Amino acid sequence: MSDCIFCRIVSGEIPATVVHSTDRLIVIKDAHPQAPTHLLVMPRAHYRSIVECDDPTIFSEMLCTAVEVAKKHGFADAGFRTTINTNSWGGQTVFHLHMHVMAGRKLDEKMS
Ligand code: 5GP
Ligand code: ZN
Repeated sequence: MSDCIFCRIVSGEIPATVVHSTDRLIVIKDAHPQAPTHLLVMPRAHYRSIVECDDPTIFSEMLCTAVEVAKKHGFADAGFRTTINTNSWGGQTVFHLHMHVMAGRKLDEKMS
């Protein structure tokens, strides 16, 4: 999808800091971090959101990758948050499935 910013990052057309990469996923640094560590785990394939994703194996891969990166980068024990915003009321602004991984400070207990 040439009009999708994350597809353009996956293809290398738009630069991003890639911290982890597999044949099916990439993990990049968020351009506007909301925590000292703020990563985005996304499938290479384009799915508009979790609602449109017809490959459930991608969900487990995204979570397992987040845990792997958390361990590798040393923030697993202190703790981190994984979030998937979905559609308008869920706060999704980029419509290519992705999971936020935030760490590096005590995060708000309230998630509104
Ligand atoms: P959403 O609001 O859809 O859940 O999250 C989209 C995230 O993508 C936001 O946290 C935003 O900062 C990040 N983002 C938007 N455009 C870019 C970009 O071009 N590069 C990177 N690395 N992150 C981006
Ligand atoms: Zn896309």
